[in-house]
Amino acid sequence: MKKFLTLAFTILAVYSAKAQNIMNNPTSNHGNKFEQLGTILPTPNEYRTASGAPGPKYWQQRADYVIKATLDEPKLSLTGSETITYYNNSPDVLTYLWLQLDENQHSTVNNANYQDASYLENAINTNQLDKLAAAKTDNGYGHKISRLADAMGKPLKYFINKTMMRVELPAPLKPGQKFAFNVDWSYKISDRMTFAGRGGYEMLEDGNHLFTMAQWFPRLCVYSDFQGWQNQQFSGRGEFALTFGNYDVTLTVPSDHIVLSTGVCQNYAQVLTPAQLSRWNQAQTSKEPVEIATLDEANQRSTGKSAKTKTWIYKAENVRDFAWTTSRRYIWDAMPVYIEGKKVMCMSGYPKEAYGLYRKFSTKAVAHTIKTYSKFSIPYPYPVAQSIEASNGMEYPMICFNNGRTNKDGSYAEATKYGMIGVIIHEVGHNFFPMIVNSDERQWSWMDEGLNTFVQFLTEEEWDNKYPSRRGPARLITDYMRLPKEQLEPIMTNSDNIIQFGPNAYAKPATGLNILRETIMGRELFDYAFKEYARRWAFKHPTPADLFRTMEDASAEDLDWFWRGWFYSIEPCDIAIEGVKHAVVNKQPAAVAPRTGAPAMRSLDKPLFSGAAAFDDISKQRNRNDKNIIFYTDADTSLRDFYWRYTRGLEPYDSSFKYPAPVMNTPEPLSGEALAAYENVHLYEISFANKGGLVMPIIVEFTFEDGTKETEKIPAQIWRKNEQKVTKLFMTQKKAISIQLDPLKETADIDESNNKWPNGVLDEPSKFSLFKGGAGRGRGQSSGMNPMQHAQQKN
Ligand SMILES: [Zn+2]
Repeated sequence: MKKFLTLAFTILAVYSAKAQNIMNNPTSNHGNKFEQLGTILPTPNEYRTASGAPGPKYWQQRADYVIKATLDEPKLSLTGSETITYYNNSPDVLTYLWLQLDENQHSTVNNANYQDASYLENAINTNQLDKLAAAKTDNGYGHKISRLADAMGKPLKYFINKTMMRVELPAPLKPGQKFAFNVDWSYKISDRMTFAGRGGYEMLEDGNHLFTMAQWFPRLCVYSDFQGWQNQQFSGRGEFALTFGNYDVTLTVPSDHIVLSTGVCQNYAQVLTPAQLSRWNQAQTSKEPVEIATLDEANQRSTGKSAKTKTWIYKAENVRDFAWTTSRRYIWDAMPVYIEGKKVMCMSGYPKEAYGLYRKFSTKAVAHTIKTYSKFSIPYPYPVAQSIEASNGMEYPMICFNNGRTNKDGSYAEATKYGMIGVIIHEVGHNFFPMIVNSDERQWSWMDEGLNTFVQFLTEEEWDNKYPSRRGPARLITDYMRLPKEQLEPIMTNSDNIIQFGPNAYAKPATGLNILRETIMGRELFDYAFKEYARRWAFKHPTPADLFRTMEDASAEDLDWFWRGWFYSIEPCDIAIEGVKHAVVNKQPAAVAPRTGAPAMRSLDKPLFSGAAAFDDISKQRNRNDKNIIFYTDADTSLRDFYWRYTRGLEPYDSSFKYPAPVMNTPEPLSGEALAAYENVHLYEISFANKGGLVMPIIVEFTFEDGTKETEKIPAQIWRKNEQKVTKLFMTQKKAISIQLDPLKETADIDESNNKWPNGVLDEPSKFSLFKGGAGRGRGQSSGMNPMQHAQQKN
């Protein structure tokens, strides 16, 4: 019964443990903050190693697409036909494939219907009422599949579950085999400004449209070694998990449109005017952005609407997605940047509403981003990188949609400018995370948003030394960290379940990486390890464990405590100075004072001599009864000595003998040079309390009477044996007038009011004497007389 109760309690303790207290060592007395993550991480295998690198049998699937699509601008619809070739590189036999029909997100019939709570406010607008009314009928949005057939034209069976479509394979697809099939589809394009999605159109004031075509074609889900099919429904929040492949895309649009797209255009000679083509050629070697489609041309095109069409052809290799944009309103400029000798065309497309900001900053922000991210991760591998102004913020390979429009008079606020540059850096930066380092956004928003926001911060900081970065510095995360627990989730939370999405998935992971870089690891160590992660996982599918493991593997820093605290927990940092003892070396040695202050943990190991009274414990009994054990002192009797005999009563035993009390070493007072070296040295014993829960390094700044300062940094491991309170002794040459914790605000400490000493008047230091440090007794030597000496004396 007792056993049962104990077991029940243990299970309860484990289940009631919140995510922040995931325990690998649940009964440890010091807590779990410094225990290894262990089984919290997936077991390493031949696909993903314990070092965080892809394993010897790492594999990933591939999907190639040939797509032809036609935009019908008057009808606001897109019709497409695609051939997908799916390569099964897995060791598994597949009997079906899963495709994503993301446009179904807008359908009132087929959406994932994962809605958030809603409320009756004091005022409600017609858009909100329209949505409520539309939800009761079929609004006509979503992918319509008109044909699904294999390469021979034989129809394939399929089933649509909201935003996911399962395609039945006519025969099992074995490892190493490929399967080609065709899908014909169409959809009604939604008004992005109403639906707030990533793809759709925006109608500008003059009645012209900007189309941002994203998640526009049926795309393969990821099938992986770590979770099989990733077919979690698309709710609009958790972004995408996508397979690498090659794209061959033919886009037919009104002839007065400018198209900008993922990939490299194959037929500029056919679609551009001779003047545009010559400007495009000029841009190839230009040091400044060249307008290929000019403001004047855009203004002219905007006055009419062509009924004719033009077809633009693009190719993209080894990308995980494909997006494009088209409008007759676009101005388009370009200039090259060189990454390790390879040319990357940096380009921007924007309507005249953004001309005042985009013409000046956008393409240069693209170039700066490509250069800086290449330095901190891997060299940018694609031939093109583009920023498109579409009052948006969303990323795709080689192209992204951002916002940044001026006032009608061309003026703009500082916040608009830095907001725009920040969004461009961020969205262009997504080329690296997750377009190349292809993590699963549907599951882990932070793996791309957090890492990308971190490198965005580094890139902003290299943009301008006074750049007003919003996310990255530790002090900017404290408002979030001090929120009530109900408003917080660990970073390691599924995308769709996150509250406070921006701080959680963007700011907190970015800040964490910055703290690792600046405060915990140092730049050299961090940068090497972070680059190694990017290098290992470029064009592959990493998981969180691959990042956590690589960062340690490449740096020799045990960071499990940091991943546990910052990524798996919601606890904030709040370290407080609880007390300070100050002492100064006294010239004149006083009487020998035994050690005061906190007692050290004493060793509880029993003395090695147990004399005649040695206890015959269970191991001794069992060993003695084991016929297979021959004790060494029996096999080799030369090992038998005084104590061998003594414990057996074979030596005369004197019951009056008592071990003498240990004798303290008599300290030897210092004099002369030795004293001079430490004369007037100040010692500060500071007691720290961990009030927030999160363990962090302790950074202590002393300010001295003469105004100079000195900073000492204690690694977070100081909390290893006691996660609530620690005491540390510091030595300074001068007398401190104040002590400040974390003066540079590096640790995201949420309460700075307890970071200072003194709070009132300074106490006079206590005087203490300094003695010569002795060599001490040899290990194992006893003090006073031992039974052997006692016996010898008697003889
Ligand atoms: Zn992002």
